[in-house]
Amino acid sequence: MTVAPHEGSTIATGSVSGPSGPVGKADSTMTREEMVRVIAELGPKFEERAVEVDRDAVFPWGNFNDLRERGFLALCVPKKFGGMGASYTDYMRVSEEIGRHCGATALTFNMHNATMLWAGEVSDLLDMTDEQRAQHEARRAEMFRGVVEDGEIHSQPFSEGLNPGALAGVGTIATPVEGGFLVTGRKIFASLSGAASRYNVTCQVPGEEFLRLLSVRATSDGVEITDDWDPLGMRGTVSRTLILKDAFVPYDDEVMPPGMYDQAANRYPYLFMSLAPSYLGLTKGILNFTKSYLRGELAGAAKGTARRDNPVKQMGWAEMNIKYEQSRAMLYSVVDSATLDPTEDQMVTAWAAVYTTMEHANAVAAIAVRVCGGQAMLKHLSLERMYRDSRLGSLMLPWSAEVALERIGKARLYDA
Ligand SMILES: Cc1cc2nc3c(=O)[nH]c(=O)nc-3n(C[C@H](O)[C@H](O)[C@H](O)COP(=O)(O)OP(=O)(O)OC[C@H]3O[C@@H](n4cnc5c(N)ncnc54)[C@H](O)[C@@H]3O)c2cc1C
Repeated sequence: MTVAPHEGSTIATGSVSGPSGPVGKADSTMTREEMVRVIAELGPKFEERAVEVDRDAVFPWGNFNDLRERGFLALCVPKKFGGMGASYTDYMRVSEEIGRHCGATALTFNMHNATMLWAGEVSDLLDMTDEQRAQHEARRAEMFRGVVEDGEIHSQPFSEGLNPGALAGVGTIATPVEGGFLVTGRKIFASLSGAASRYNVTCQVPGEEFLRLLSVRATSDGVEITDDWDPLGMRGTVSRTLILKDAFVPYDDEVMPPGMYDQAANRYPYLFMSLAPSYLGLTKGILNFTKSYLRGELAGAAKGTARRDNPVKQMGWAEMNIKYEQSRAMLYSVVDSATLDPTEDQMVTAWAAVYTTMEHANAVAAIAVRVCGGQAMLKHLSLERMYRDSRLGSLMLPWSAEVALERIGKARLYDA
């Protein structure tokens, strides 16, 4: 299909409206660099499809089908379960590379991988009884099998928007019944709505002190997607509202043993940073756009090198690069040195890294519009989309920019 009349270029999206193609075998021998290289090869197709994905606010099925075919749905599935066995730090690099080409694909792919990491690498760090460990091993084997063999896609609708700043507790209730739970609640901004095979939700059994992470199958009775989706940016995430009414979840579809989600959130909060590389990649995408534009090499845009040779534009270009380098250095140094049970100092560094990455994405986009100028912000060029997408990083809970400010603002001022 040909979409959006890009001046000087024809765009064949090739995108489809559902899963198609084979589930490729995950290559567990790939190095981090090789994983990133595969994404870089797919990248141009992702960029082409981003036009339609953004314009129509549709899920990037074409990209997910490519990822599935290359075995990448099993990116963070441990090797012993048939996956590629990418670590959290490997994942960050892969996510950055996806975000460079399509922000919405990186964000949605993040939701899938976050579940793989909660149940995989992070669970392995936690304290469990032998019985819990054995049960988790059996349950996650089946969950991972669904990804590796059937190409299942997972999502993580946690947000409820109960009240401004709702960070504690959830209103979604799990009622124990024979063989499992009946789950009832409402999740807002359920990215991958209508596309995911599983909606992994945080919920609570009345009387219990901890949250449970239960995997609701999209095919269950009592699962409904409501509300329109016509947002400012990240339109391909299709984050509509998920309504659950007595949706049955069998015991075996509990993603982590009871209490382990809370332990993971408290002892390895770094996983809440997993969205940040999507925006780091987006920042890099904006740099790439600006480079091509200033050099007069961008298809459908002004030619000539006069802009590149303008010293004022070079100053703006330098500012953009410095911000990207700051984000990148902070983000990777935090994740590469992440430990269980971080200190307050480590947490301040982590919040600062996420704040910087998210705010810089939009700051860099704003400078790019200024530096490239009026002809660059026309809708037929990708900067306009990336500018809109970049604004949303700061809203992502639980570590939104304001939450980071609030926490860093209190840190070190009250301890003895
Ligand atoms: C494109 C997109 C995709 C998303 N995908 C998902 C998803 O897949 N899963 C999911 O669970 N959620 C998702 N979200 C939701 C997101 O993580 C937030 O929960 C949501 O944006 C909060 O919206 P709200 O209006 O309820 O915010 P509110 O709770 O009203 O908060 C508004 C703002 O106030 C600030 N704030 C909130 N609490 C505090 C606090 N305690 N201290 C200081 N400041 C605070 C934050 O900056 C926040 O952005 C998505 C959001 C978007 C925009």
